[in-house]
Amino acid sequence: MNSKVFVNRTLNLKRIKYIGLDMDHTLIRYHAEEFEKLSHTVMKEKLIQNRNYPEQIRKFNFDYELAIRGLVIDRKKGNILKLNRHSAIRLSFQGLNALDFKTQQKIYHSTYIDLGTPDYMAIDTSFSISLANLFMQLVDLKIKNPTLQLPDFSVIADDVLEALDEGHRDGTLKDTVKKDLKTYIIKEPELVAQLEKYKLHGKKIFIATNSDFYYTKLLLDYAINPFLKNHKDWSELFEFVITSAQKPRFFTDELRFLKVNPQNGTMTNYFEKLKPGVYQGGSATTFTKDLGLQADEILYIGDHIYGDILRLKKDCGWRTAMVIEELEKEIAQNKKAQPINNEIDDLMRKKEPFEDQLTTLMTNRIENEHSVAENVIEELQKQINEVDSQISMLIKKQVGLFNQHWGQLMRAGNEESYFAYQVDRYACVYMAKLADLFALSPRTYFRAPRKPLSHELVD
Ligand code: IMP
Ligand code: MG
Repeated sequence: MNSKVFVNRTLNLKRIKYIGLDMDHTLIRYHAEEFEKLSHTVMKEKLIQNRNYPEQIRKFNFDYELAIRGLVIDRKKGNILKLNRHSAIRLSFQGLNALDFKTQQKIYHSTYIDLGTPDYMAIDTSFSISLANLFMQLVDLKIKNPTLQLPDFSVIADDVLEALDEGHRDGTLKDTVKKDLKTYIIKEPELVAQLEKYKLHGKKIFIATNSDFYYTKLLLDYAINPFLKNHKDWSELFEFVITSAQKPRFFTDELRFLKVNPQNGTMTNYFEKLKPGVYQGGSATTFTKDLGLQADEILYIGDHIYGDILRLKKDCGWRTAMVIEELEKEIAQNKKAQPINNEIDDLMRKKEPFEDQLTTLMTNRIENEHSVAENVIEELQKQINEVDSQISMLIKKQVGLFNQHWGQLMRAGNEESYFAYQVDRYACVYMAKLADLFALSPRTYFRAPRKPLSHELVD
């Protein structure tokens, strides 16, 4: 079978006893564009009502294509950047305008940036596309209308972040979802059947989500319960449901578990060894210890590179799988781009002998004092330029197949994007959706492909 699960590190599902699931954007998929549009509206209102932003921002439209995951906001300078695996800037925008290479160089001197400083803010969850969008619009407004006296870029960044945080915490977003679940939440009956099949094989499945109990119950009642065949309720399907888990702290700290009564959501202190049930808080360390498991017998699947994957991998030792919902589209786009890529490769091969000839002529001219007719050099240079302009037209065509502002999610030009680098480094396997993994046998052995190093590509 053509697997839709992509392997970075070998993983034997037979060895996995417990499979942990993140809920939002992993177990439960969203109509992401609808949800981000809602977030954008909620943030605008909060900025107008609570932070004195001008009423005119209400007119900002939401454009789902304006930002992609993996971008980085430069809080001080008001820019938004796409980086490659070495955190070198490959594309940048100020407000709604792309910065040309010269301007970018003037602003940044070195193209490499230090992501460790608090100046940078990563757009790394599916919930932050709306944030990037609004930030770009506000920066644009500030630059074009100095008389409005909007706050400094870094204050705008903080305000937008806080507005989004409030929207998530104070119920504004969740109440709207609750009233109209169909608009925001995807139902996946096949996935529920697959989860039940995994249980037949003796796999234990649990949830660890940052959502609170009430929101978790809302979504699971809606998207899981109607499709259960062998279980009455999601609380039977999932061995543990850990709510308000505070990831990534769940993976790094030893916070206490509280027991949740699934009938009414009331909570009580819990001091015993963990038993199946619904909980709040807690830690991966206690979970692993109380269940008598080895860390590598647990596979955790999430969508957030920082909250779900990176800290876990660094601190906790569970195996990891990452859901990247954009992948399905990107793979289809890659297929379309393949013929163009082949043309580009052909042209590069065509260009090489011209460049070699030019190098030889110029080297001889200097080392052996050969006189080389200027017109020979000019002719070679002309041919190189012609091929280059054909290549740059093809590159434009290729980029146009992907996001019009930022290109591919997983690539930055010829290299991996910073996002792809993090996925490669921290996720053992990755896929577009959970059902891609659960469609495979629970006994699957995922083998990592051998990745050639540069020197191994020599003929
Ligand atoms: P998980 O993906 O299942 O761990 O859940 C993510 C939870 O975090 C959801 O309940 C979101 O509403 C919430 N969330 C996402 N972004 C923010 C934020 O910026 N502030 C507070 N909560 C957030
Ligand atoms: Mg999530």
